[in-house]
Amino acid sequence: MKTVKVLVIGPGGREHAIVRSLLEDPNVSEVHAAPGNAGISKLVPTHAIDGNSPEAVSALATKLGVDLVVVGPEAPLAAGVSDAVRAAGIPVFGPSKEAAQLEASKAFAKQIMAEANVPTAMARVAINAEEAADALDTFGAPHVVKDDGLAAGKGVVVTNDREEALAHAQACFDAGGTVVIEEFLDGPEVSLFVLCDGRTTVPLSPAQDFKRIFDNDEGPNTGGMGAYTPLEWAPEGLVQEVIDRVAQPTVDEMARRGTPFIGVLYCGLALTSRGTRVIEFNVRFGDPETQAVLARLKTPLGALLLAAAKGELDTAEELRWSKDTAVAVVVAAENYPDAPRTGDRIRGLKKVDELDGVHVVHAGTKLDDEGKVVSAGGRVLAVVALGSDLVEAREKAYDGVELVQLEGSQFRTDIGGKAARGEIRVPYAATGT
Ligand code: AMP
Repeated sequence: MKTVKVLVIGPGGREHAIVRSLLEDPNVSEVHAAPGNAGISKLVPTHAIDGNSPEAVSALATKLGVDLVVVGPEAPLAAGVSDAVRAAGIPVFGPSKEAAQLEASKAFAKQIMAEANVPTAMARVAINAEEAADALDTFGAPHVVKDDGLAAGKGVVVTNDREEALAHAQACFDAGGTVVIEEFLDGPEVSLFVLCDGRTTVPLSPAQDFKRIFDNDEGPNTGGMGAYTPLEWAPEGLVQEVIDRVAQPTVDEMARRGTPFIGVLYCGLALTSRGTRVIEFNVRFGDPETQAVLARLKTPLGALLLAAAKGELDTAEELRWSKDTAVAVVVAAENYPDAPRTGDRIRGLKKVDELDGVHVVHAGTKLDDEGKVVSAGGRVLAVVALGSDLVEAREKAYDGVELVQLEGSQFRTDIGGKAARGEIRVPYAATGT
């Protein structure tokens, strides 16, 4: 029975993927989005409000009479959008401003992990150059320096060059911030999204994303250039281990503090030679992992997110997944991540959608005055493909990418490449570590 009316907040690829999945949910009667992008506006009504404004979002949700608000990005969460919607009596999938500190402040996240005994990198907070230099020398190279605040995935510098590490710390101090300096974690990275209702945790399928702009993990960090799921090479028991040692203790600690966590706890993990370690928490779905993960999810998404928002995840049906592998390859604008070029026509998208098992998810796109799709952000879109295995899914995704015409655009050619060639080595077995 179609009864649930949903409002999705955010402008990106993650939100387009969420809207697509919600529209497939037989429980969902209507979807709205704000502000959305060109791809979203072709599917559902969009509303040109400031998605980061708690008042604007709660007013829109009330006016539309929705049963659920899903908040996509971190900025509205850190601004208190969920709190305002909840105060208006509407269930919301997304943590409160206080619980969103798990992402908004890396120092806060470290504190919670220490309280909850969650395995993570050893770290020190530094507030000036002297403290930064001292921390760098304590941990040694490679150096990891993180802006304490929100930086859209771009506030982290990992380098062997002590001067570069110090310069990044100084830039953060100059901007009025502090930094977290930590030990380097070796080993492959895994992203695990865990749905939380304040008490209960439900893991989605693990994914791997690609943060650097260039092939072979070269160049600066970005918001993410591609992803694939599931991970054939992941140790058996990894997901359960992360629930038991990371997600559940964190959710329990947040509840104990009176700031229950509702939404996605995104566990960014390194599988190091000393076991699984948390690299970071995010408090929302990752982008572009969501595009790949939701492409495989068969359980109706709306019912699941509503159950989380209402504290009823313990009654949710068991998750069902496609047997296929999903790959998402991001097409980014020229000069991303520095100063992306925007306003260019994008052609070929229809042809991509006509390929079997391939679709386009829009991110930084908008419709121009003539109704044509043009680029409007750094990460412009992702081509998402399902295949019977990683090799096939990659082939199909790259067939799609080749059809996208956008002047100056760039993409990585190695999304899922190492895994497809069987070259990822996990330095331990997860169970029992
Ligand atoms: P974050 O914003 O904390 O996710 O960091 C962005 C990226 O920097 C991560 O996905 C890792 O690739 C890298 N990174 C962060 N912390 C560490 C660490 N302690 N050791 C090695 N790499 C790291």
